Amino acid sequence: LQSPHQCGEIKPQTHYNHGFSENVSRKNHVDDYSTWDIVKATQYGIFERCRELVEAGFDVRQPDKENVTLLHWAAINNRIDLVKYYISKGAIVDQLGGDLNSTPLHWATRQGHLSMVVQLMKYGADPSLIDGEGCSCVHLAAQFGHTSIVAYLIAKGQDVDMMDQNGMTPLMWAAYRTHSVDPTRLLLTFNVSVNLGDKYHKNTALHWAVLAGNTTVISLLLDANANVDAQNIKGETPLDLAKQRKNVWMINHLQEARQAKGYDSPSYLKRLKMDKEFRQKVMLGTPFVVVWLVGFIADLDIDSWLIKSVMYAGVWVAVQFLSKAFFDHSMHSALPLGIYLATKFWMYATWFYWFWNDILFNNFCLDFSAHLPFATVHVPFLINSLVLFYNFGKSWKSDPGIIKASEEQKKKTIVELAETGSLDLSIFCSTCLIRKPVRSKHCAVCNRCIAKFDHHCPWVGNCVGTSSKLLHTQQITFYRRRERHDRSREGLQ
Ligand SMILES: [Zn+2]
Ligand SMILES: [Zn+2]
Repeated sequence: LQSPHQCGEIKPQTHYNHGFSENVSRKNHVDDYSTWDIVKATQYGIFERCRELVEAGFDVRQPDKENVTLLHWAAINNRIDLVKYYISKGAIVDQLGGDLNSTPLHWATRQGHLSMVVQLMKYGADPSLIDGEGCSCVHLAAQFGHTSIVAYLIAKGQDVDMMDQNGMTPLMWAAYRTHSVDPTRLLLTFNVSVNLGDKYHKNTALHWAVLAGNTTVISLLLDANANVDAQNIKGETPLDLAKQRKNVWMINHLQEARQAKGYDSPSYLKRLKMDKEFRQKVMLGTPFVVVWLVGFIADLDIDSWLIKSVMYAGVWVAVQFLSKAFFDHSMHSALPLGIYLATKFWMYATWFYWFWNDILFNNFCLDFSAHLPFATVHVPFLINSLVLFYNFGKSWKSDPGIIKASEEQKKKTIVELAETGSLDLSIFCSTCLIRKPVRSKHCAVCNRCIAKFDHHCPWVGNCVGTSSKLLHTQQITFYRRRERHDRSREGLQ
């Protein structure tokens, strides 16, 4: 059975102050501090006691019997003021210590203390140093799922594809150890190399995700075009590993991904089913046919409504089949857009069919009572229509205010936020890696941040932000005006 070396098996936080209520303890044992040794005082953050001992001659570089320094204890317990104090007294920032021969920065990273990581790096701590198990800080942050620290380390220049001593990248660690969307999503946003293999097993991140049964990360990796056919050193693909584990979900998803790539040469129909573009076309096209069929059947020269009902039922069954076989339910927006365009299309087709002669021969026609007046009905209708379609097209295709940022800007933002202690998800989008301005929102349908987000409009298949709000309002206004117009025209008839 494959297993990577187990970074984190030996926990340096043995003496970590687990949620110990220090305020209560301070009150109750206020006199006891005078007997505490410096290690305990550091773990619990009793600054005065530590200073007392250092001023009495304790060397801050002196490791304890487990070869751990005071800076390690301060780092793992997030005692920022003590770290500052010990450094000012000559503590060595990258001192190796503990069972894993790791630095205080390694300890802070494992524990997920972003502010401590920031502080130690300000003092020059080197995140690329490796511990006794061959892991650098970015690997530890990825395997323990500390996404904000992964973000900070990459933003500070750590290579997103950095390999540890066993040739494991942060992505492999995240795939093997962290069962949430982050930090994998973050690494993908930073254009990580998805298909690298580790040094000993030649497992890719997808292999590791399958080994760990990590379904969340498998989905993310497949969406990111991970190679489903990659082989490890034993010649096994991720699908082989999934079969060994008899995991139905994983087997199905990997098989689908293989077929989508055309590896398993499925039948023609199956290939069509896999083709995203084809499915979108079916979703957009179906309403055109259905709207036409509804009118066509109603218009048929058959008196029996029973026969017509049977025909409508046939249409319904056909739509059900198409929906099951071809509609892509991950593309929420294609269907409303198709319905919108189809109704418009057939309305105009009908209008031209009935009134074409009116328009062409209006000027030569003397019998006005038989025709709708050109100037007061058709001209306003046409003008309204043109403006409507102009606004519709603009709303559909225009940029609603997508917040874009270059990779450099993203990194700058992460560093700024981390160093001011405000790298939290209320003001930072973990998908787009940008600072979210007031009133902006991440649109789940479009998967991007929109400045001054109003709503996602399925009828135009786009977000409506303030920059496109005017267009959208115009479109609705003209649409309503034309509807009124249509109604008054019906009145005329
Ligand atoms: Zn976003
Ligand atoms: Zn949207």
